[in-house]
Amino acid sequence: MIELLKIQKTADVGEFSQKSPSGVVATSLTDRSGYARDVAPSHPAFLAKAGAILFLSKAFKLGRTILTSILLVWLAGCQTGPQAIELPPPSPAPPLPTVTIQDQIQIATPGPIVEIDPPPAPIPTNLIVSLPMVSTQAVMNAASNGLPVLAVDPMAWPSNWVNTWLSLDAWGQYNRLGKPSLVNGAPSPMYQFQTTNGTILLKMGSRIARCNGLECWLGYAPQMIKGVPYIYALDALKSFQALLNARSLRPGNARIVVIDPGHGGKDSGSRNSFSTRWEKEYTLDWALRLRTLLVEKGWKVVMTRTNDVDVPLPERVQAAERAKADLFISLHFNSGLPNKELAGIETYCLTPAGLPSNLVRTYDDDPKALFPNNAFDEQNYQVAYKLHRSLMETSGALDRGLRRARFMSVLRGQNRPAVLIEGGYLSNPNEAKKIAAAAYRQHLAEGVAQGLD
Ligand SMILES: [Zn+2]
Repeated sequence: MIELLKIQKTADVGEFSQKSPSGVVATSLTDRSGYARDVAPSHPAFLAKAGAILFLSKAFKLGRTILTSILLVWLAGCQTGPQAIELPPPSPAPPLPTVTIQDQIQIATPGPIVEIDPPPAPIPTNLIVSLPMVSTQAVMNAASNGLPVLAVDPMAWPSNWVNTWLSLDAWGQYNRLGKPSLVNGAPSPMYQFQTTNGTILLKMGSRIARCNGLECWLGYAPQMIKGVPYIYALDALKSFQALLNARSLRPGNARIVVIDPGHGGKDSGSRNSFSTRWEKEYTLDWALRLRTLLVEKGWKVVMTRTNDVDVPLPERVQAAERAKADLFISLHFNSGLPNKELAGIETYCLTPAGLPSNLVRTYDDDPKALFPNNAFDEQNYQVAYKLHRSLMETSGALDRGLRRARFMSVLRGQNRPAVLIEGGYLSNPNEAKKIAAAAYRQHLAEGVAQGLD
């Protein structure tokens, strides 16, 4: 993620004029220590001295600004890692005299991770407690056509199952899953469905559901209403229905994938707490390893960058458009500074319209917003789930969940399924060391590649 940090130029070296009460103008030059040196303004010696000091002070100011920038970057957490890694060599630093110091530079540190509370859930005025006839018919049609019972036509989702709450009984009945089993009682009851695609575990009052053990974040926490467990209808449709309908990701020969190594060039991303490496280097290395694996599996792979260049986010979307890609995967590493405890992998896709996001950072998250990529809500979730599950298996990393967000503009405009993976926290000492190892990044690449099988 990108955040702008404004460097305030200070003026502790320079000149100023001051008018005394008697009206005499005195000119002062200040040195670095801030001591003023008063001199007569018209004296030739002063002019020569002032010119020299002015020149020196401006030269010093430029040098100091450069050093400040270098120091800021260094302070972002650089330490030399204990382990040699195989990465592309960093670009040579430009010669100092030609460096242009900008007022704003892009630097690594994203805002602190804050788990947001969603806006208040809609008032359950229209509780759905049982299955409507139209859906029963759809299920019967599916069964009579020889389709698996669970593969209910998504179009048959009842039209009145939108801005409302569904009893778990009703949703289970719709999917021929029967009633959920109570696995944990008050005060936070947990209910579980056993499906042909695995288990779904819902904890009342928690937005974190468990799908085959994986964290799957919901828009709204399921809740007990009058002693009956309910789930928000849109969560049921956009998450669980999507998982039940999950199909192969490999339709025919249309397998063009865009791999997007996050950051690059002057946008370095987050810094590894325990090495001199940046997120942009790790994402590129991960992407190159993934490309090799996917090409072996027959995918056509398009990269948004193959070296250390800054590619604007709209161009990354355009690259997928030009390639007529079937899938877009953006690779990142995370930072939770100042929190160094956060660890694990998060997999993101775009939040469906009507639901609050699970992470907003500074973005003004509008649940009503509808983006081009929302046309792929179901497939986004299916891809994200498969990649996340596979990554958990190959990396052994902590599960930080399958989540949804709107602030990632590299996803919003995509006309194809698109996901963004945060492959671990560079701000966590243990995870940073793991990510610094080439073998671990190979596991991350294998996780993504196997998730697309
Ligand atoms: Zn990033």
